[in-house]
This record gives sequence, structure tokens and C-alpha cells, in this order.
Amino acid sequence: MLPTKKYRIALISVDGDPAAEIGKEEAGGQNVYVRQVGLALAQQGWQVDMFTRRNSSEQAAIVQHEPNCRTIRLKTGPAEFIGRDHLFKYLPEFIAEFQKFQQNQGFQYSLIHSNYWLSSWVGMELKKYQPLIQLHTYHSLGAVKYNTISDIPAIANQRLAIEKACLETVDRVIATSPQEQEHMRRLVSTQGQIEVIPCGTDVDKFGSIQRSTARQNLGIALDAKIVLYVGRFDRRKGIETLVRAIANSSLRGQANLKLIIGGGYRPGYSDGIERDRIANIVTELGLENCTIFPGRLDDSVLPFYYAAADVCVVPSHYEPFGLVAIEAMASRTPVVASDVGGLKFTVVPEVTGLLVPSKDEVAFAAAIDRILTNPAWRDQLGEAGRQRVEIAFSWQSVASRLTQIYTHLLNQTMPSIQSKSQVAA
Ligand code: UDP
Repeated sequence: MLPTKKYRIALISVDGDPAAEIGKEEAGGQNVYVRQVGLALAQQGWQVDMFTRRNSSEQAAIVQHEPNCRTIRLKTGPAEFIGRDHLFKYLPEFIAEFQKFQQNQGFQYSLIHSNYWLSSWVGMELKKYQPLIQLHTYHSLGAVKYNTISDIPAIANQRLAIEKACLETVDRVIATSPQEQEHMRRLVSTQGQIEVIPCGTDVDKFGSIQRSTARQNLGIALDAKIVLYVGRFDRRKGIETLVRAIANSSLRGQANLKLIIGGGYRPGYSDGIERDRIANIVTELGLENCTIFPGRLDDSVLPFYYAAADVCVVPSHYEPFGLVAIEAMASRTPVVASDVGGLKFTVVPEVTGLLVPSKDEVAFAAAIDRILTNPAWRDQLGEAGRQRVEIAFSWQSVASRLTQIYTHLLNQTMPSIQSKSQVAA
């Protein structure tokens, strides 16, 4: 139950702007999560302020999403895109700006929910200066990620230490899947309090378009066999495995086989470099004629792509949750995914899709072929996926579970602290 007064709470996501265009420049699941959780919490009565950094001088300092939900962009280093691995040194400025903002507004937040390790540090530092309840969602764990990549960044040790301190000291850590919780316990620390609350998706946005309507809309032939990837261009996403799987497919050579690789990128930046690498592999394997790169898929077209596809492939090397899998399932499209992380939780093998070992292009090819060659089974898997999402993954239920925890933690604190962050109902 929410207290009778409305509370102002802060979601902090320094590197993932909830008001950003999704699908490029490192903007992906974390941005979607913060925005959707913020909106759903606001619907449940909280006054939600979502803090991020300003990465362009053209950006508005404040974006009002709903009357009680806004994004606030703080000056943090130069007003330009800075990759996550290079942001840490600017965080003291973010903290100073956050404190200045509180001072100008004449109140202090008593609860913050931080996202990604950078913001966890911000929260832990703020706690030194004001009474504060902190919850944290990791979105990615260095301890797992660094096992799946070869180019370990210079910031790695600092990140690992901060992730451990966070788990051990904040008031609650939110794991988005039982697999992520298990990773935290095994690889980060046995101390600290974890609550598992899976991510959600928009069941109205995804799932209301028929496959044939979507194809007509996108100019895709009704008899095409569509294999879809949606996501950022990042090596850990395993797009190379998918391309090699298509080269191994028994349907290769059939004119109606199409691979769509959707996602934005900026030439010269890390996503642009990965996109070029993937395009080169496509060419090397002689798949140019059957591969389409539509670029960033915005909200106006994304539901059509999911609905048009026969199968959506999530070939990640590591995935704490993986929103794309549940978006496809909500759209009645079966998922072939790597047998890793949260994908083991969302995708039910042989029921809503198939799981295969990551990086195994032959296994991916076989799984994709099984679905492409059996449309009746495809529809059955798609229907079961939709049902699973309706039951288990809505943003409203995520916000209800968070509301329970926030309220419990707020009620445990001294009333004098709470009253500072109350605003009139
Ligand atoms: N996305 C999008 N357009 C694109 C590519 C990705 O809207 O062109 C969205 C996608 O729908 C999903 C998010 O970006 O909501 C990716 O989240 P996911 O958890 O799958 O991966 P992450 O980005 O967190 O690694």
C-alpha cells in the first residue's frame, strides 16, 4: 500500500537516458527499463524524477513525460556522447549537480533506485551526505561480462569492486531473473539482499498486428521466411553467430529466405564498427541478397517487424534479461536464443521457442530451420509465447512489486526523513 502522501523518488541512470531514442549509441534495454518503470511507478502514485546525463547541448534539460514523471538531464562532463567505459571520472560532477538540483528545489529525495554500476556509485556516494534508501538494478554484471569478452577495458577492476560494494551495502538489489541472482551470489558476493523482479513489456504495443498485415505494411512477401534480429550492434550480442547460422541453414539459396538485422549505429563509433564487421561477414559468406539492414527500428515500425517475422533470434553471449525475447514473444513470434542468463528464464524450450548453446552456429541453424519449416508449430510456439508474456511480464506488475519494496523500506525509516521528500497528494 502506498502511503497517503505522494513521495518523490529518483531513478538514476547516468549512462542510460530514459528519454533517448532507443536502438543506437548504447541506448537499449536499460533505457527502456528506466522509462517504463518510471512511467508505471508514476501511474501508481509516485512522483518520479529520472536523472541522467546531458550528452548534447541541443537536449532539453527536463523532459516531462507525464505530470508526475520527468527526465532530468544533468551536466556531467562535455555535452557529447561518451561511452560507458569512460564515464566514471565525470561522476563527481553528476553528484554535485544532483545536490544542487535538490537544493534549488528545496527538498531531498529519501529513496533512489540506481541503474548500472556507474549510478550505483553515485547512490553510494550520495548516501554519505544525506539519509537515503538505495535500490539498485545492475542491467549487466562485470563479473559475467568480462568472462565473455577478450578486450577487457581499463575500468574493469574499479567496476568489479563497486559492483561488490553495491551488492553488500545498498538496501535492496533487484535481479531481473533468477539466473542474474545466481550470478550475483556466485560471482559477486554472498552478502546483501536481493529481490528477483523480472522486466516487463508493453503487451498492447506488441501483439496487436497480424503477420500478413505487418508484411503488407513493410513490403515483405507473404511467402517469405523471415529471420529477425533486433538490438544494438555489440559483439556480446552474437550477431556474427546468427549470420553464420543463416549460411548453414538448409534453406540457404531459397529466394524467399530473408535475414533482417535491425538496430541503429553511428559510423566510426563502437556500434558502427561492429555493424561494418557484420556487413563484411555477410558479404564474405555471399549473403548480401538475403540480408537487410533496416537501421534503427523506432516505435512506429518495431511492432510490425516483430509481427512480420517467422522467428526472432537472440544469439547473445551474455544477457542478464533480454527485452527483445519477450517483445518477440508478446508479438506471437517464436524465439531462438542462446542458452544464457535471463534468456533461460524467459524462453521456454519447445514451448515458446528454442534454446541453443551460444556461439554455436550449427545449432542455431538447426533450431531456426525447425521453426521455418513448420509454420503450424511456429504459430503454436508464438501463441504460447504470447500467453507467457501476458501472465509473467508486464510493467504494471514490475511497478507493483517495486512499490511494495519501496513502501516497506520507507516505512522502516524515521518519519522525519520521510517528511522531507513528501509532496502534497
Ligand atoms: N531496440 C529498439 N530499436 C532498435 C534496436 C533495439 O527499440 O533498433 C530496443 C528493443 O526493442 C529493446 C531494447 O532496445 O527494447 C534492447 O533491450 P535488450 O534488453 O534486448 O538488450 P540491451 O540493449 O539491454 O543489451
